[in-house]
Amino acid sequence: MIAEGNLLEAAELSHRTNSLPEICGRICPHDRLCEGACTLNDGFGAVTIGAVEKYITDEALSLGWRPDLSHVEQTDKRVALVGAGPASLACADVLTRNGATADVYDRYHEVGGLLTFGIPPFKLEKDIVKRRRKLLEEQGVKFILNTEVGTDLKFDYLLDNYDAVFLGMGAYTYMKGGFPGEGIGEVYDALPYLISNINRVMNWEKHPEEFIDMKGKQVVVLGGGDTAMDCVRTAVRQQASKVTCCYRRDEENMPGSRREVFNAKEEGVRFLWNRQPVEIVGNGIVTGVKVVQTELSDPDNRGRRTPQPIADSEQLIPADSVIIAFGFRPSPSTWFDDFSIEFDEGGHVIAGQNEHQYQTTNPKVFAGGDMVRGSDLVVTAVWEGRMAAQGIVEYLGIGKSTHAM
Ligand SMILES: Cc1cc2nc3c(=O)[nH]c(=O)nc-3n(C[C@H](O)[C@H](O)[C@H](O)COP(=O)(O)OP(=O)(O)OC[C@H]3O[C@@H](n4cnc5c(N)ncnc54)[C@H](O)[C@@H]3O)c2cc1C
Repeated sequence: MIAEGNLLEAAELSHRTNSLPEICGRICPHDRLCEGACTLNDGFGAVTIGAVEKYITDEALSLGWRPDLSHVEQTDKRVALVGAGPASLACADVLTRNGATADVYDRYHEVGGLLTFGIPPFKLEKDIVKRRRKLLEEQGVKFILNTEVGTDLKFDYLLDNYDAVFLGMGAYTYMKGGFPGEGIGEVYDALPYLISNINRVMNWEKHPEEFIDMKGKQVVVLGGGDTAMDCVRTAVRQQASKVTCCYRRDEENMPGSRREVFNAKEEGVRFLWNRQPVEIVGNGIVTGVKVVQTELSDPDNRGRRTPQPIADSEQLIPADSVIIAFGFRPSPSTWFDDFSIEFDEGGHVIAGQNEHQYQTTNPKVFAGGDMVRGSDLVVTAVWEGRMAAQGIVEYLGIGKSTHAM
């Protein structure tokens, strides 16, 4: 459609399968998803799907286009959503397109979840998230912010006052390496580091001492995913004197986006592949990271190759600061038990084994995104939010299936 010049129809069509196309267009790992699967990718070069997706929405919105909700028949059904990350935003989008009222609660002062309080501004401009917030508000979505469900507001209130509840609370337990020295001075977890930088850049900082500053420091980032890439690139922007990324597999087997590694290299980040940290060294404050070299085993049944330490290969990498970016696990709330919301041993809420898709073991409660699947991607959170909305629409007996998607 866009090749034919049908910009507004293209925007409408794009929104039929994605609630946040301008955001996925910016931060999806297209190289390994849509563009990686493009048949032209074989030697010729893929269609630049991400850039097209971003262009369509940005241009259409700047021309005044808005999602068409003229067909919507408003019902009296009300849904509460916990968390204002991409899973909930997508769920709220589909719910309002099906005539339900969507009230989104979040503990933060701005919407977006990790889109706002995680992904750095140089990858995703925060104005883009705010623009989507405004669009959703125009659709009738209400945001109740600075409200932590379970503490500021009891979960009973949501169950008593709404016809259904969607949980999109993300995954916020930081994975640890389990080696000595993780608790000493100048060792930081990735997310607090990134958030402190966002708060400084966005002027949201409450006290200047909250800012974690890497200016002039030798920084070592441990991990090989997108979060690690965001940390190294943030440290570069803070004018660290040297930024090194250590990852225990090789470049080919790292989980992060190829594009992000390329960007980081271009910005001067040094990569040490096949290095496994065994200790963070320092007398109260970091002076270095002890690593061993690894070689990869043959692929296991999931195709993953396990790093095996090589004997006598120890090496000390000097560091003034270390950032740990080993990923996140879901953090089931203590109150889930009180409401029969079950989760597995990894903390993932069980959703989808009941009558309706993404319904939890409490029939009135649905869930999706990182808290169900584990730490993953914006596009999968959006998809699960949309699928859960479809399940809620069926549960409430409203909407027409064509509008749910
Ligand atoms: C640093 C970083 C970089 C990333 N980069 C990318 C990338 O480039 N591309 C990509 O596709 N994915 C990326 N991801 C992953 C992606 O951001 C997540 O998979 C996605 O945001 C998950 O969406 P969600 O809605 O499930 O959860 P979240 O985005 O985590 O949102 C959950 C929301 O729930 C709120 N909440 C939790 N508990 C409560 C409560 N009790 N009461 C009220 N509110 C609550 C939280 O405050 C939060 O706002 C990145 C992740 C990180 C950490």
